[in-house]
Amino acid sequence: MKAAVITAPHEMIVGQQEVARPGAGEILVKVNAAGICAGDMYIYQGKNPYATYPVVGGHEVSGMVAELGAGVNGPVLGTSVVVEPFIGCGRCYPCRVGKSNCCANLKVIGVHHPGGYAEYLTAPAPNIHAVPAGVSPLFASFAEPVAIGVQACRRGEISAGELVLILGCGPIGLALIEVVKAYGAHPVAADLLPSRLETAATLGAQTLLADEHLLGRVLERTDGEGAPVVIEATGNPKAMEQTAALVAAGGRIVIVGLVKQGIDVAFPGLDFTRKEMTIVGSRASVDCFPQALELLASGHITYPHMATTFSMWDAPVIFAELDRNPGMVHKGVLTL
Ligand SMILES: [Zn+2]
Ligand SMILES: [Zn+2]
Repeated sequence: MKAAVITAPHEMIVGQQEVARPGAGEILVKVNAAGICAGDMYIYQGKNPYATYPVVGGHEVSGMVAELGAGVNGPVLGTSVVVEPFIGCGRCYPCRVGKSNCCANLKVIGVHHPGGYAEYLTAPAPNIHAVPAGVSPLFASFAEPVAIGVQACRRGEISAGELVLILGCGPIGLALIEVVKAYGAHPVAADLLPSRLETAATLGAQTLLADEHLLGRVLERTDGEGAPVVIEATGNPKAMEQTAALVAAGGRIVIVGLVKQGIDVAFPGLDFTRKEMTIVGSRASVDCFPQALELLASGHITYPHMATTFSMWDAPVIFAELDRNPGMVHKGVLTL
């Protein structure tokens, strides 16, 4: 089979490999579409400390069931599916309490195992989810980023009617907007870049410029109370620290953005009790794929319309261009 392989940082080639065979408990999937996400770019740029080369990236994958491994009884061959990329060990504390997204020995398809930038990939059967009728392979490939939004909304216990302030309108912030709306809540998106705010507005968010007057704007918008829920999706430590001021007393802060290792984030100590603020982290997703697929099927998620598709085997050129110009497209998806 053909595969786009990252052989070393900044080196990607399209080559021939043996078709992977599904082991016991695994399913072989013929790939239709695989999204390009920041995580894939990090591997390409040599910034992911967990990646060992050569590696086949691609963890936002849709395709069709091509073969069932021993002991697997479904779905039937040809079923349209998506691949959930996280594989927990099943033994550690987070796995034992149903939080395998925080597994101490987490393996990720497209990082530790060959991913979707290939004609075929294998995955454990529980990681394969059937795609509802009417959802195209392109839309289905967005199940992973949408699931990240679902996880953040669950962690924030978002309910209908609430104002939800989303800091950052990058890919995750944008995916969050429509998920928040699907919960019946009101997304207010903040970013420094007017072009990103335009996109956020297209997806149905109210928008606020995240300059030095952001706090005043949020207080004005909330009758001086602050936001009931703040979702931090920038990964910027300063933005993260500001969530304590932006959140209403009794409100929730959900941290989705990744801070670089070794960077501290400080909160005013009295606010923990004065505001009784809840601060939770949200990592990737666990058990969110079925809901993400339902949201894609029900028409709540239109963000994939903004994607630009490329031929899978142009991946080496596309990755080189995205490396030079990250803003070249809203979102790239490689298709077969
Ligand atoms: Zn991703
Ligand atoms: Zn584990």
